[in-house]
Amino acid sequence: SIPLGYFGGIGAASANGILFKGSNYLDLITKVNTVVLDKTGTLTQGVFKVKEVQGEIPEKEFISYLASIESQSTHPIAKAIVEYSGADNLLKIRNVREIAGHGLAAEINGNEVLAGNGKLLKQFGIAYPNEVDEKVETTVLLAIDGKYAGFVTIADEAKTDAQQAITALHAVGVNKIVMLSGDKTSITQKVATDLGVDEAHGDLLPEDKVAQLEKIKAEPNRVVAFVGDGINDAPVLALSDVGMAMGALGSDVAIETADVVIQNDMPSKIATAIKIGRATKKIVY
Ligand code: ADP
Ligand code: MG
Repeated sequence: SIPLGYFGGIGAASANGILFKGSNYLDLITKVNTVVLDKTGTLTQGVFKVKEVQGEIPEKEFISYLASIESQSTHPIAKAIVEYSGADNLLKIRNVREIAGHGLAAEINGNEVLAGNGKLLKQFGIAYPNEVDEKVETTVLLAIDGKYAGFVTIADEAKTDAQQAITALHAVGVNKIVMLSGDKTSITQKVATDLGVDEAHGDLLPEDKVAQLEKIKAEPNRVVAFVGDGINDAPVLALSDVGMAMGALGSDVAIETADVVIQNDMPSKIATAIKIGRATKKIVY
C-alpha cells in the first residue's frame, strides 16, 4: 500500500499546478541532481513575432507562400508567421511533409516549396546568402522549386520566471543544468548565458538531443530530469529518469509521455516540484 504521505505530496503538488503521474516520481525527483531543458516553449515563451522580412520575390507573394506552408504546422514558429500574414491569401497546399528539427516541405501551385532553417535548405542542396546564418535571431528560409526565395527573422522572449527558475534549481542543489535546442547555436548560447544555465547546445535534431541526454546519463551518479514543451521532445522525455512537460503550450504526446506535468508552464515549478518531493519524503519516513 502507498504511504499516506505520498497522497499529501501529490495533493500539495497539484495545488501548485504540478501533476505527478505516480508516487514513485515524487520519490525519484528528490534525487534529481541534473536538469536538462529544451529552450523554445520551456525557458522562452514560445510566442514568436516576425521582425524582419527579406524576400527575393515580391513581398506579398513571398509571405503568401511562406504563410501557406506554415499554416500546416503547429510549431510556435509557424503560428507567428501565419499571424503576421493575416492568414489571408493562403494558397492551396498539397503533399505536406513535416521534417522534424528542420521545417516543412509541400507543393503549392505545382511548385515544390520548402520552409525551415538553413539545415533544411542545405539538405536539399539549395544555396542561400551567408548573412542569413549570421543573424542572431531565429530565421526561417523559403525555397521554391529548388531556389532560395528569402527569409524572415523571428524573435522569442525568455519567460518572466526563467532566470529565477535556474537560480532556484542551483539553490536546491542541482549541480548541472543543460539547455538543448534545435535553434541556432548562437541564440542558444546567448539565452543560456542570460539565464545562468551551466551548459548549452544548439542546432540539434531530435536524435541529437537523445545522444546528448544519453551522454549525460552515462556520467556517474547522475539522476536526470528532462523538461520540455514536447514538440519533437517525446524521445528525450521518455529517456530521462524524470520526464517533465509543460502542460499549457505543450503537445499532447509530451503530456502523455511525461511523468510530471507543469500545468501553467512556469519553469520555476521544477524546483518547487523537487522541494515538494523532499518535504513529502520527510513525512513518509
Ligand atoms: P526547439 O524547440 O529546441 O527549437 P525544434 O525541434 O522544435 O526545437 O525545432 C528546431 C528547429 O527546426 C527550429 O528552431 C526551426 O529552425 C526549425 N523548425 C521546426 N519546425 C519548423 C517550422 N514549422 N517552420 C520553420 N522552421 C521550423
Ligand atoms: Mg521545442
